Amino acid sequence: MNEFTIQETIRRQLLISTAQTLQRESLPFDEIRHLQSNFLEEFKAIYADPAERKALLHNFSQIFYRHTDGSYTQRAGLFEGNALSDGRRFGGMSATYAPDIPPDEDIKIRLTLAYILSYKYGSSVKGRFFNFYGVLPEKGFPIFQASDIAKVFTYSGPDALKLETYEFYYRGFDKSNEGTVFTRMYWDPSNSAWMTTIATPDVADESGRHRIMACVDVLLDDLMRRTAKPPIEGAYTTVFQADSEGTLIYHRGLTTAIKSSGGKASIRSLKLAQDYAVLTAGLAAKPGQVSLVTTADEIVAVGAIPRTPWLLSVHYPKALMRPAIAQNLAILITLGIVTLLVEIFILRSILQKQVATPLFRLIHAARQIGLSKVRLDKDSLPMRSNDEVGELAHEFATMAERVRDAHEQLEIKVQERTAALEEANSKLLSMSMTDAATGIANRRRFDQVLASEWQRAQRTGSSLALAMIDVDWFKHYNDRYGHQAGDECLRSVARILAVQVARVTDLVARYGGEEFAVIAPVTGRDGALPLAQRLCAALESAALPHETSPFGHLTVSVGVAVAAPAEGGAPEDLMTRADTALYRAKAQGRNQAVLADAWESMT
Ligand code: GH3
Ligand code: MG
Ligand code: MG
Repeated sequence: MNEFTIQETIRRQLLISTAQTLQRESLPFDEIRHLQSNFLEEFKAIYADPAERKALLHNFSQIFYRHTDGSYTQRAGLFEGNALSDGRRFGGMSATYAPDIPPDEDIKIRLTLAYILSYKYGSSVKGRFFNFYGVLPEKGFPIFQASDIAKVFTYSGPDALKLETYEFYYRGFDKSNEGTVFTRMYWDPSNSAWMTTIATPDVADESGRHRIMACVDVLLDDLMRRTAKPPIEGAYTTVFQADSEGTLIYHRGLTTAIKSSGGKASIRSLKLAQDYAVLTAGLAAKPGQVSLVTTADEIVAVGAIPRTPWLLSVHYPKALMRPAIAQNLAILITLGIVTLLVEIFILRSILQKQVATPLFRLIHAARQIGLSKVRLDKDSLPMRSNDEVGELAHEFATMAERVRDAHEQLEIKVQERTAALEEANSKLLSMSMTDAATGIANRRRFDQVLASEWQRAQRTGSSLALAMIDVDWFKHYNDRYGHQAGDECLRSVARILAVQVARVTDLVARYGGEEFAVIAPVTGRDGALPLAQRLCAALESAALPHETSPFGHLTVSVGVAVAAPAEGGAPEDLMTRADTALYRAKAQGRNQAVLADAWESMT
């Protein structure tokens, strides 16, 4: 193995492991984007419904409290989980409304809706993301978080809550902004944590006015803890923004400089001249794709983390390759010197034929060893010569053995490293396909399997069944037993469903929240309904306690639909039909399975 092949191995490992790191780091941001777009869609749908608006207006006075200075906060006790008079609880929700603009009906409706939805979305991702909040441009700020901000804020006048000085607020509501904003990293004193905020406003109306913005705070310490672990031994990772400065998010050894600059330190401001080429390559990279840059001291892999404005680079110091290269060099130099000495010796004794011939054989053998890994054929050496030539041959044979051993050991080491790397990679892959809370397949895997089963069914002409399962009255469950018990309960549901889905080709996945899905290939209408009913019945007979459900125990509703992909349509149609059937199962009283109407091709 020479310098070239060592470099090639490192470069390949860097490419593979960096591509996987990019993919892994993009997962939480995927989820955040989904969460925010669901929030905004639900906000829009409810906001457009006159009946809902009326109810929200009524709710406003139940949830919020007006202070003498004209500001509002949520009523006392709500953060702590005390119920409203109608039994609803909003534990962990906090809200402030600045007194600058007295709230009219529209603002009241939006503030209440933002409050209720922030609770819904915030509590469903509790423990995974930090704060969830829906902010009004009129400085209404309901938030699901760890501490009650309503307690901290006392308004001393209209200028007290300067939301417009917060980056997420002024950039998110900027008229020219049409998408998602990631803020600089910042220190949040109320939580003693480094964070970044990811903010997505709704679509502005013709006058450029926004009504709501969905925000998630991400704790950067978690990201850094993962990022600090290099994918290859001896390498290190950095994260920086894809801006012209390379504003740093994480850089081993520079964390103090980054933090003390208030998140402003960058590759350029810190004059990390070596990394300029890395920044340039990163800015040119497509999301998820990796480029390799060779700087004076390092081989660096760099790429954009998909769905973020961030670049990630993995640095492998060239110095690490040196021991291996040095070992190889030593071997080559020794061989060179031996060859040279022998050649000089021959020139001297060119006339002594008995010397010249054996020595040529030695030279030939030396070249063989230098060029390849072929085991030395000792018989070809003039070992039996009873003179200096014979001695030289013995010395040479011993040295050749050592060279070979060194080769072998080096190769074994490389193989070990490669195997360890492959194992780590496959572990990562399975992690990214599993729902951490329940241990079954996650939404990502579900999407992949549905697409591939759809294609398979299209090829083979078979039919495909999809069941959507939603836990009944689960909000009540959380309200009655607490969110943690809710999580535990979802694990039980996942286990019970998994037992029912016994065929190896079937997949049970967590679709999101308290919804699950089952994909059953090669299943027609006659098989689909019994499968769905079996799922219902399994929950029924497990009789998990649920006091506040009319059934007295935990139940699920199931909507199942069947498609023949060869006859047209798309996986989305199948999903929509299963959802509609689920909706019917709910409407008809829950705790039951409903089979969707047969698909009629449009063609
Ligand atoms: P329905 O019978 O109509 O389905 O009523 P529901 O209460 O189950 O439906 P809804 O959609 O109103 O509420 C779903 C609840 O599920 C709200 C949310 O807090 C809870 N939930 C979603 N994901 C999780 C989770 O991971 N853990 C816990 N504990 N609760 C969750
Ligand atoms: Mg649901
Ligand atoms: Mg439900």
